[in-house]
Amino acid sequence: MEQGAEDVPVVYLHEIKRQYTQGATTLTILNGAKLALWAGQSVALVAPSGAGKSTLLHIAGLLESPDDGEVYVGGTPTSGLSDIDRTQIRRTDIGFVYQSHRLLPEFSALENVMLPQMIRGLKRSETVKRATEILAYLGLGDRIKHRPAELSGGEQQRVAIARAVANAPRALLADEPTGNLDPNTADHVFGALMQLVKATRVAMLIATHNMELAGRMDRRVSLVDGEVVELD
Ligand code: ADP
Repeated sequence: MEQGAEDVPVVYLHEIKRQYTQGATTLTILNGAKLALWAGQSVALVAPSGAGKSTLLHIAGLLESPDDGEVYVGGTPTSGLSDIDRTQIRRTDIGFVYQSHRLLPEFSALENVMLPQMIRGLKRSETVKRATEILAYLGLGDRIKHRPAELSGGEQQRVAIARAVANAPRALLADEPTGNLDPNTADHVFGALMQLVKATRVAMLIATHNMELAGRMDRRVSLVDGEVVELD
C-alpha cells in the first residue's frame, strides 16, 4: 500500500442526497448522508426495510449516482469521472456481495471467481492460481469444480464472496449477505467476511438485519431521515 493511503477513508460519502420520483410523489431516501469507510474496519448498516440501505450501498459502490453530494474513493472524487473510469474503479477497488449469490449457473465455482480477473485483463493462468487460492482460503478447496447448483447455500455465498474479492478490492460492500441463510450457515459466512477484513484490511460495509452479527462488527451505523447516524 502506498504511503499515507490509510490516512484517508477508502470510501467517503459526503452529503449524499438521493430522491426517487414516481408520478407526482418524490421520495427523499438519502438526505445529506455522510459515511467514511476505513481500511481494516467492518461497519454494520442496520436500519428498517425501506430506509435506504441498498441505495446507500449502490451509491458507495458507484453502481448508482447520487443526486447531490460526492463519493470519494481513496480520496478521489468520482462524480466528474467518465463512465469508463468509474467502471474501472468498480472493477479494481470495490467488491459487491448481494443477498442472493448471483453466480453464473453454467460456470464452476473456479470459473465464477476467475471471471472478474479475466475481465480486468489478467492472464488465464494467473486467474486460475488466484481463484484457487481464494476458494481454498474460504474453505472451498474441494468444491472448485462444482457448479452453483451443486453447492449448498452457504457455499454459494462463500463463492460469491471469493468472486467479490478476486481483484483484491479496497472496499467490500455486502447487502444482507446472510439474509437467505439459516443461523449456523449465516454464522459461517459472516466468519469468512470478518476473516477477510483482518487478513486483507479491506474496508467493509454490511447491511444486515441481524443484530447479533452487527454486534460482532467494529462499528454500527443506521439511517435516520436519510442521514447516517452512529449507533452505540
Ligand atoms: P432498504 O435497502 O433499506 O430496504 P432501499 O434502498 O432498497 O431500502 O429503498 C429505499 C426506498 O427507496 C424504498 O422505499 C424503495 O421503495 C425506494 N426505491 C428504491 N429504489 C427505487 C427506484 N429505483 N425507484 C423508485 N423508488 C425506489
